[in-house]
Amino acid sequence: MVTDVVVVGAGPAGRALSHRLLRRGVAVTVVDPRPEVEWRATYACWTDEIPYWLPPGVVGAQVDSVAMRVTETTGLRRGYTVFDTVALRRALTLDDARILRDHATVVGEHHVTTRSGATITASTVIDARGLPGRGPRQTAWGVVVPRAQARPFLGDTEAVLMDWTPPSSDAAAGASFLYAVPLDADRVLLEETCLAGDPPVPVAHLRARLDERLSGHPITPLTTETVSFALRGPTAPWRVRPIVFGSRGGLLHPATGYSVGASLAVADDVAVAIADGHDPLGALWPRSARLVHRLRSVGLRALLALSPDATRRMFDTFAELPLTQQRAYLSGRDDATGTAQAMAALFSAVDKDIRRSFVRAVPGRRIIDEADQ
Ligand SMILES: Cc1cc2nc3c(=O)[nH]c(=O)nc-3n(C[C@H](O)[C@H](O)[C@H](O)COP(=O)(O)OP(=O)(O)OC[C@H]3O[C@@H](n4cnc5c(N)ncnc54)[C@H](O)[C@@H]3O)c2cc1C
Repeated sequence: MVTDVVVVGAGPAGRALSHRLLRRGVAVTVVDPRPEVEWRATYACWTDEIPYWLPPGVVGAQVDSVAMRVTETTGLRRGYTVFDTVALRRALTLDDARILRDHATVVGEHHVTTRSGATITASTVIDARGLPGRGPRQTAWGVVVPRAQARPFLGDTEAVLMDWTPPSSDAAAGASFLYAVPLDADRVLLEETCLAGDPPVPVAHLRARLDERLSGHPITPLTTETVSFALRGPTAPWRVRPIVFGSRGGLLHPATGYSVGASLAVADDVAVAIADGHDPLGALWPRSARLVHRLRSVGLRALLALSPDATRRMFDTFAELPLTQQRAYLSGRDDATGTAQAMAALFSAVDKDIRRSFVRAVPGRRIIDEADQ
């Protein structure tokens, strides 16, 4: 079987890219063992990352700002969107694609072999199989509750990105915070989250912490959510062949765990490059994006090196940074200057214990050298 492009993996990244390739007139074969399965995870991103081509119906809930609570409560005035995940998946139509319900066993630069023995040859193969599970992970445990029950946790804010109060009684096992966001008009997700742990904080710990946090409040969970995913992708995804995309392809922010917004945002640029016969890596990895990737990897190392108490203190300082710097660090995938400035500002503002920890995590000049390779 011959096709223009094979996309392996129909998660948010693979599906978004396939959808845009089809819109650009490219013949696409999608390989996934279960392409029809509904996505169950809660996917959120910054509102300004959502591409123009997605219909408004994909929005489950949208707020103008999110709160961060550490010593004080600060507002991060930036739109935040929680997707209606079922609607998002449906909007990423694959009507004209050839779909292979199969496991890819060999994913080469120009061919893919599947478990059932099919081989597909293509000009371009994109590997969007998600990030394999070694190394540091983000873990969380959440409950979905009726909006009225979430009021004590939201306070007078619409959504809480991170509530680090109060420190949990078993904090030594790893720092965690409450993430509280509306899913739609009626439901709110309350999730105890460890941003990054190596070894990861076990989900059972986070469940116990959430129970502790919610005790004394009348909570009747409608559903629950378990989160556990790898954070460390390839060191230099622009050098990996076949081309890797999505969380597997370096689009996952290693210090926040977000990738869906980035994959959606860049999918059409990659599709246009492929449709026009250009190298898609040019659209995916300009030098500035490679530098940001390096800086973020340093950010993950620095985060992992902090004690639970230092992690809280670091976020206390982060919450005080100017919004432009917070924004640059949290997304800004190709904003190397903004990311570097945010990291430098954070470095100057944190206490000296944290600074010492950061210094140990920073490999200095190598960041720039490696981004050029
Ligand atoms: C509960 C939960 C909540 C999350 N919330 C957020 C959030 O709010 N915002 C955010 O940005 N991120 C969030 N994440 C992180 C999330 O994992 C990723 O951001 C997202 O799923 C990555 O999308 P992806 O398409 O790159 O990979 P995946 O979603 O992992 O998709 C990979 C696809 O590849 C397929 N596949 C795997 N192996 C093969 C094979 N051998 N052959 C063929 N197909 C294969 C799989 O079936 C799957 O469909 C969350 C994760 C979890 C678990």
